[in-house]
Amino acid sequence: MPSIANSTGPLPAPSSMIAIADPRADAMNNHAALLSAIDRVLTAGQYILGEEVASFEQEWAQYLGTAYCIGVANGTDAVALALKAAGVRPGDEVITVSHTAVATVAAIELIGAVPVFVDIDPDTRCLDPAAIPSILSPRTRAIVPVHIYGQPAPMEQICAVANRYGLKIVEDCAQAHGAEINGRKVGTFGNAAAFSFYPTKNLGALGDAGAVVTTDPVLAEAVRALRQYGWQDRYISATTGGNSRLDEMQAAILRVRLPHLDARNERRRAIAQRHGAALKGTGVRLPAAIPNTLHAMHLFVIESEERDGLAQHLRRSGIATGRHYPMPVHRQPAYDGRCRGADQLPYTDALYRHMLTIPCHPDLTEEQIEHIGQSLQAWSEPPVASGTAGVPWIRRVQT
Ligand SMILES: *Cc1c(COP(=O)(O)O)cnc(C)c1O
Repeated sequence: MPSIANSTGPLPAPSSMIAIADPRADAMNNHAALLSAIDRVLTAGQYILGEEVASFEQEWAQYLGTAYCIGVANGTDAVALALKAAGVRPGDEVITVSHTAVATVAAIELIGAVPVFVDIDPDTRCLDPAAIPSILSPRTRAIVPVHIYGQPAPMEQICAVANRYGLKIVEDCAQAHGAEINGRKVGTFGNAAAFSFYPTKNLGALGDAGAVVTTDPVLAEAVRALRQYGWQDRYISATTGGNSRLDEMQAAILRVRLPHLDARNERRRAIAQRHGAALKGTGVRLPAAIPNTLHAMHLFVIESEERDGLAQHLRRSGIATGRHYPMPVHRQPAYDGRCRGADQLPYTDALYRHMLTIPCHPDLTEEQIEHIGQSLQAWSEPPVASGTAGVPWIRRVQT
């Protein structure tokens, strides 16, 4: 049993805790390069939609292996504008998961569309394509799969269902920069994909930033217009739009960081591997290894029978943990009781009670990784109470 009762004394001060993310550490890694990028923007004198944005758009599209990238203000707008450009209209239904950042669902409602929930697969923790057919209605127009925690959703199956029923797909890639399925980057499977470059994401700016990517030139043009008042030419609005521009400063910063993305993702995966090894034999359920996918390991999320006890055990060792998210979207006050599909989410409902996020970011020091490993190793799950032993998402054989 864990030694919670033996760990006496005050809890470490939050500032000395090992954190889930450390955006400052990464800023300090590249201090000089970031300053020189910022200086380049200052000196160039163009601060909105200039050369830095154009270059980043090109570099990000090239990295992913897609045709078009349109920089926007944030990831929420990226989802919303991609859906709108894909033809989703007010009142249309968009199928997504409740096990996601609330931003996914907020984006759907931002354009007047209606979110409809399907359950997750307990292994990928992503949208279960088999759940789609039974929730379809005449208003269903699109699917938003979320590559949650950096684990790719099963895009081949999701695309097959979308093709069969004539639905558009916008991938939410906000947690999955660089994740792959069979060597192909996520973000290249749907009609369009949305990225967030919020500072703690795998590729992060020093403020808000986002992007839509697509291989469809018509959809790309539509997003380009939507991000700036519907302009076709300067001051001439061919359609209506708003303002969701990516600024030069953030684009320049992203260009400094992009060349480091693959190595940093590799380090995330290596740390996750070590956490996994430390947890062997503790009874804690690890993220499943899904064949043919490359995990971006945005978050390392385990499942525990006694999640709160494990969190407290780690906290006493100076290790912060997180819950992503404390409750699924359909249980949050703003959405509770008004979303179709919310009554059929057993895996979503089970997962949020058991999941715990352990620090796995690439700026962890060797010493911190060791310390986390030792603390994880010292834990053991309580015995399974009879009656819960058959619960399918806990204590399965690890792949
Ligand atoms: C972060 C995130 C978003 C939203 O991105 P912002 O840039 O914060 O608007 C959307 N979806 C998911 C899954 C995210 O993690």
